[in-house]
This record gives sequence, structure tokens and C-alpha cells, in this order.
Amino acid sequence: MTIDWDVSALLEVMARDLRPLIDPEQAAMIGIFTGGVWLARTLHAALGLRQPLGQVDISFYRDDFSQIGLHPQVRASDIPFDVDGRDIILVDDVLYTGRTVRAAMNEIFDYGRPARILLAVLVDRGGHELPVAADVAALRLIATAGEHIKLRGPDPLRLELEQREPQ
Ligand code: 5GP
Ligand code: MG
Repeated sequence: MTIDWDVSALLEVMARDLRPLIDPEQAAMIGIFTGGVWLARTLHAALGLRQPLGQVDISFYRDDFSQIGLHPQVRASDIPFDVDGRDIILVDDVLYTGRTVRAAMNEIFDYGRPARILLAVLVDRGGHELPVAADVAALRLIATAGEHIKLRGPDPLRLELEQREPQ
């Protein structure tokens, strides 16, 4: 069985839910490379944030990065604003164990001390292994380990919940 959703409608839900939580003059946004960055571009424009969009790559920060592969792809993080005292919206596509978000927060704190970090994700798939919760999630569901959330696109952009092939 496959269930699918229209991603542009989900992004509108995220923007609607974020708007009352932030001041666009003060708040800034950081996308987690790669899946969070393209979502963040759309949300950043929809919210009209004054600060330029940032991105973090957490390949080397995840506590279990060795499981990602021997040669994880590494990109320089880019946070083009002062994080001290600022409200930051951290954006990713899927929240699962919470380890990616924990790693992203570690990296952000290397740049300074934000006033507040909000987490916005397209899908919270449950299965958290750390006390990490999304402030905004367009979809919240309980996926099993055998299920995978797949983004297809770009035209039309769809999100699907599918069963992984048995090994
Ligand atoms: P976590 O670190 O919370 O276990 O996993 C979240 C990260 O892994 C996200 O950056 C996301 O890109 C990726 N991820 C985890 N589960 C899925 C999934 O079912 N589908 C997709 N597309 N990405 C996932
Ligand atoms: Mg990712």
C-alpha cells in the first residue's frame, strides 16, 4: 500500500503554523542539508524572513555517523547571520530518531547561543530515541522500521509512505 500527499500543500501548512510563532524581522532559518534545505528555501520566502537562509551539514556530527558510511559526504555549514540571542527555525524533511536534530543543534551552538530554536519538519515519523519534538510538523504519523517516507518530484512534488522491500 502506498499513501501519497501533495508537498506544496504540506509546505503551506508549515508556513501557516510557523507564522504566529516568529517575528520575521528577528527570526532566522537554517535548513539541514540536504532534504531540509530545499524545504527551507520555500518556507523562508513564504515567511518573508529578513535574515539570509543558513544551512548545516551534520554528516560528521551525528553520534552514529560511522553507520552512514565510511565516506559520508561533507559540506561546509553556512550560517550567514549572528545566532546570539536570535530565534532560529531549524528545518528538516523527516524527524525519526532525533539524532540529526541533536547534531544540528550542537553545530549551531558552535556559532553562538540562540534565544530559542524551533524545529519544523515535513513529517514526524515517530520512533524518537532522544527527547526531541517538532514544534511544527505538517504530518505526524507512526511509521514502522519497514516503512520509508519517499519524496518524489519535482513536478508534481509528492511525498509517499511506502513499504521497504524485504531484504
Ligand atoms: P534521524 O536522525 O532523526 O534518525 O533521521 C532524520 C534524518 O534522516 C533526516 O535528515 C532525514 O533526511 C533522514 N530520514 C530518516 N527517516 C527518513 C525517511 O523515512 N525518509 C526520508 N526521506 N528521510 C528520512
Ligand atoms: Mg536528511
